[in-house]
Amino acid sequence: MKFELNRLTDYSDESILNELRRVAEFLNEKPLLIEKFNKESRVSASTIIRHFGTWQTAILKAGLDSAYAARTKSDISKEEVTNELKRVSKLLNKEIFSQDEFLQHSICGHRGIRKNFGSYQNALKEAGFKSLPLGTRFTEEECFNNLLKLWNFYGRQPHYSEIKKEPSTVGPKAYITKWKTWRNALLAFINHIQKNQDKQELEINKEKKQTFLNETGQLHKTKRSVSDRLRVLVLIKDGNKCKICGLTVTGENIHIDHIKPWAKGGETILDNLQVLCSRCNLGKGDVEF
Ligand SMILES: [Zn+2]
Repeated sequence: MKFELNRLTDYSDESILNELRRVAEFLNEKPLLIEKFNKESRVSASTIIRHFGTWQTAILKAGLDSAYAARTKSDISKEEVTNELKRVSKLLNKEIFSQDEFLQHSICGHRGIRKNFGSYQNALKEAGFKSLPLGTRFTEEECFNNLLKLWNFYGRQPHYSEIKKEPSTVGPKAYITKWKTWRNALLAFINHIQKNQDKQELEINKEKKQTFLNETGQLHKTKRSVSDRLRVLVLIKDGNKCKICGLTVTGENIHIDHIKPWAKGGETILDNLQVLCSRCNLGKGDVEF
């Protein structure tokens, strides 16, 4: 009989990651379910999360396929969600924590919560936690991030009715408690994302002494990818209509295009960005490269 220690003797990053790789390859299931993982592993999933911050970070650090992390997958059991709630509560040393806080420290995604419990509130209740007081379930930042996501999804200012359904994860009460009306909430949001947007991007990079190289070796002050925040600002500037053909765009059909191409030295700033539909964007690409 082979004798194996059932715990690691050394908890360095490298030996934890090795164990993670070993078990992932052994189980060879995507996503990696925590219960199964814990049965095979010589280091518990919670130790790994404590070590690396999030389960996903650890998976990526180990160089494993991100599909193992299942952060947004819905295939997680009721029991797993409940166990995760208890684990995260201990980890944060808190009895009350918001959904975003929970998701950051957990292997669950919001779809898994919704599928099993209908809502985060219900999940808390079933796991024996007190429900969060109204209006404090979400921080201001979480409300803004949700709006950012919705604005990008619809390509325009989201309607009040749209915060009640997917992909929204923050309900109307949070907004009304904080800002009294939907209109005020939207104004606060726009104000929040407009605060010196370009200046901020450029100055943050300057502070970090960060520059970016493009394919032809040109130096940039901004990176090529457009942040969610900047995307929304472009959508506010242009409306959700293609600047070339005028088509109304939503979801994946929204393309944010560099007017002066990044490959030719154009920066990723509001003035150099425009809304295109996918067709026109592809056409434009053909001409320029
Ligand atoms: Zn177009």
